[in-house]
Parts: sequence; structure tokens; C-alpha cells
Amino acid sequence: MKLRMMSAFAILLCGRGLLHAWGDKGHRIVNGTMLKTLPPQVQAWYAGKEGYLRDHASDPDAWRAHDRKESPRHFVDTEIYGGAEKVPLDAAEAIQQVGSEAFKRNGQLTWVIQDRWKDLVEAFQSGDRDKIAFATAILGHYVGDAHVPLHSTRNHDGQETGQRGVHVRWESGLVERYVVESELKVRPAQVDPDVMKAPWKWLRDSYVLAPKVLASDKEADRTAPANLRGTRREGAYWTIFWAEQRETVMQCLERSSEALGDLVISAWVSAGKPSVK
Ligand SMILES: [Zn+2]
Repeated sequence: MKLRMMSAFAILLCGRGLLHAWGDKGHRIVNGTMLKTLPPQVQAWYAGKEGYLRDHASDPDAWRAHDRKESPRHFVDTEIYGGAEKVPLDAAEAIQQVGSEAFKRNGQLTWVIQDRWKDLVEAFQSGDRDKIAFATAILGHYVGDAHVPLHSTRNHDGQETGQRGVHVRWESGLVERYVVESELKVRPAQVDPDVMKAPWKWLRDSYVLAPKVLASDKEADRTAPANLRGTRREGAYWTIFWAEQRETVMQCLERSSEALGDLVISAWVSAGKPSVK
């Protein structure tokens, strides 16, 4: 009971900070699978670094514990701007539109991806393989978050629709139970001439998927006995939720890895296509 009260208190304190996109398994998969998308001359920079990319895929989630500014770097509540289509590209414009407090509170994910991508360009310019691995692992985390549908909406945990906990059920519950990494299929990375705008596209795509995630959760929930709702779910719930969301979960993981591959190859080109010495 004491523990329960403490965790309720922790939730009150941290609020959204406790939600971890993709869970560790999903983030590890995104970073590791990305390597498959790269051409050999870029892949060479990551020789022996796959374990590192996976092991550090969730670092930004851990940073939330000691940095209060970290949590809003993992999402954008697009409704504040009038929907995912209307989120300004320019942070200054976003601040002007909603005020700096609301800008801070409603998330900065897309702008953070731009900044972390610039870190990766600098890392390639430095030719330091450790720096490249670190910058890639961190960038990969945020790219993964941008592909989680519920990271694009104010109703991020189903709190407005009586579905609290759906966030973790989708990104961790399903991924940990069902995703087999070897079943993911990814296309080769492509240089993106509009690389700085890409995160806004991912956000729009995520926002389109969010209502179906919530609808599938509701549908699966109809099968669970009322006394189990809100805390844990039974086998039937998971079977139905997975049947409804399998394609979306797999596609979001694949797209995350592909998008990260596009950012990596674009950063490498921007850095002047350095080759490993
Ligand atoms: Zn995150």
C-alpha cells in the first residue's frame, strides 16, 4: 500500500515524464535495424558499434529523471497549434503563436530532432567514431518517439477518453509481447534534401494513426472483465489489440529505422562524405 501511494505520488510529480516511448525494446530495435539501411561506406563508421547504438537507445528517457526540461523533448501536443498540419517549422514562430510557457509544456520533439541531427553532422566532420555512435544513438531515440502515434497528441495516455495506460500498452506492452525484430523489413536509406522538415511529416503521419490506436484499445478492452480494467489486461485483450495494431506497430518501427537511416546518410553527405581512415 505504501509503495502504491508512493508511486501515485511519483506519477503526480512527474506526470508525463513516466511515459517512455517504445519502451527499451522498441528503441533498441529502431537503432539496431537502422544499420541495415546504410550503404557500406557509411556502415563502416559503425563497425563494432551496433551494441552501443542499442544500449544507448533509451538514454534520453533516463535523462528525464534528473533534467526537468527533458520530458517535453519527446513529444509535441499538436492540438495547441490547431492540429499536426499546423505546427510551425520555426520555433520562434511557435513561441510567438502560443507563448513560451505553452511552447515548453506542449513539447519540442521536432526541433530537438533538428538539433540532434546537427550534432551528428558535426560528429561526422570530426571523424570521431565514438562521437558518431553517441550522436546517432541519441538521434535515433527521438526519431523513434516521433513515430509513436500517441506522441503527437494531447490525449497521449488516453486520459481524455477513459483509456489511461494505453500509451504503455501500445508502445511497450505490444512490442515486448509480440514484435520479432527479424520480421521487420526496411528499405535502403536515401539522402533527404528536405531533411530539416522531415520530423514534421512524421508528426503528421503519427497524428493520423493516433485515433485508430485508441479505437483498437477500446475494442480490445470490451473483452476484458471490468475489474481488470485500468491496471492490467488479460490474454484476450492483448490478442485483439495486437491483431488490430500489428501492421501499425511494425510499420512504425520500420519507418523509424528508415527515417533514422535517411538522417544518418544525409548527415554524412552534409559532412562531405568522409571515409573511415
Ligand atoms: Zn522518449
